Amino acid sequence: MRHFDLVIIGTGSGNSIPDDRFADWDVAIVEKGVFGGTCLNVGCIPTKMFVHTADLAAAPAAGARLGVDAHLDRVRWPDVRDRIFGRIDPIASGGRRYRVEDNPNITVYEGQGRFTGPKTLTVAYPDGREETITADRFVLAAGSRPIVPDVADLAEVGFHTNDTIMRLAELPDRMIILGSGYVATEFAHVFSAFGVRVTLVARSGALLRGEDADVSARFTELAAQRWDVRLHRKAVRAERVDGVTRLHLEGPDGAEVVEGEELLVAVGRVPNSDLLGLAATGVTTHADGRVVVDEYQRTVVDGIYALGDISSKDQLKHVANHEAKIVQHNLLHADEPIAADHRFVPHAVFSSPQVAAVGLTEQEATARGVRYVTATQEYAGIAYGWAMEDTTGFAKLLADPATGQLIGAHIIGPQASTVIQPLIQAMSFGLDARSMARGQYWIHPAMPELVENALLNLPLD
Ligand SMILES: Cc1cc2nc3c(=O)[nH]c(=O)nc-3n(C[C@H](O)[C@H](O)[C@H](O)COP(=O)(O)OP(=O)(O)OC[C@H]3O[C@@H](n4cnc5c(N)ncnc54)[C@H](O)[C@@H]3O)c2cc1C
Repeated sequence: MRHFDLVIIGTGSGNSIPDDRFADWDVAIVEKGVFGGTCLNVGCIPTKMFVHTADLAAAPAAGARLGVDAHLDRVRWPDVRDRIFGRIDPIASGGRRYRVEDNPNITVYEGQGRFTGPKTLTVAYPDGREETITADRFVLAAGSRPIVPDVADLAEVGFHTNDTIMRLAELPDRMIILGSGYVATEFAHVFSAFGVRVTLVARSGALLRGEDADVSARFTELAAQRWDVRLHRKAVRAERVDGVTRLHLEGPDGAEVVEGEELLVAVGRVPNSDLLGLAATGVTTHADGRVVVDEYQRTVVDGIYALGDISSKDQLKHVANHEAKIVQHNLLHADEPIAADHRFVPHAVFSSPQVAAVGLTEQEATARGVRYVTATQEYAGIAYGWAMEDTTGFAKLLADPATGQLIGAHIIGPQASTVIQPLIQAMSFGLDARSMARGQYWIHPAMPELVENALLNLPLD
């Protein structure tokens, strides 16, 4: 049985850990799927490459309001798809080749790892063979997978998740999307911009319901103008008839059926901790399956660390990357560990419109009983908003009225994911709203004037 200094399970963010400083460590990397993990292969990167293309496809229709009559002739789906994966697949295989061929201190095990002892991992290969290895230290970086909801006959009927939907052979006429979060709404934007008629089915009464209530309400209202949005619906049964998937729903008005040639399930993700046989190690998990870690990304078992979607409440790539850096340092300097910084974790939804946020929502601030004031600035009230003829986007800030420190920032509208960055910076470095607004130039008439005006609108003490 081979023994290693370090075993890393998962090649998403975990793969970034072994660098030159680990050259004299004997390292094993275990991967059951495609090298590079979710973000590269089936997550952030391909989706955003599709989103940019979708934005272009949607542009001619948006031009009419500005007096430009353009027409979208055709979306060459195979070309769109193949450009994206023609870029991504070689990066994944190049990453694998680099580890397998160019790193003499690293051994890659291409199978599914499962603990069979406290520091013993058995790797099951696709051909049924098994191999067992041991190590002093482990990094659990095994990520998460799509939740499959309890809908009768769903498995028999067949469905897509983010793992498969981006590689469709052809665009369907209609697509049902089950889910109301960022994955569901990003794909709704992509496919509807490409001409697919989208039906979005949501359990709750709003889309993006984790966002600030004002943002969620505005997004839901706009989404209903573009897609067939069914709120308060429970999917109970699926069937496939003549190449069409029929999803039976229960809602406020009773039973109904929605149809599409394709069905995408995007109702959330569950950590892969249950695949790892953690009971054999003593590593503990929260009720939702997340591995329990301390601020140093250490599990309760000495020498076993965890990072990313398997342990974090923020299932985001920038969080997984940050935690990988923390684990990397703490592996090298176990006596001087550094803590992860989860104070101001931002996120964005690359749908249409975009949404971005950092810090508390107004409902969270109220629930926590913190004293706050809010200010809102609409894109329609800044010059660049006039240029774009935007009538629906806005920025909403929450701040401590006594100190001017920002406690939450929420933007819905064009380029929200970029426009929000100075607010993330201000919160991270403790810059108060007044100093931030008045202590620097803001390029006129650029989009960040949205932020400047929102800051100036705050009714501070
Ligand atoms: C559609 C979609 C869009 C997204 N868009 C964004 C975005 O725009 N911005 C953003 O910040 N985040 C986004 N995310 C989230 C982001 O992709 C994840 O937070 C991030 O990839 C998690 O990284 P990770 O290293 O924890 O796990 P992963 O990258 O998932 O890596 C885990 C790896 O472990 C392997 N594995 C699992 N179990 C085992 C086992 N038992 N043995 C061996 N190997 C195993 C898996 O095959 C996988 O390769 C998106 C996710 C999805 C699904």
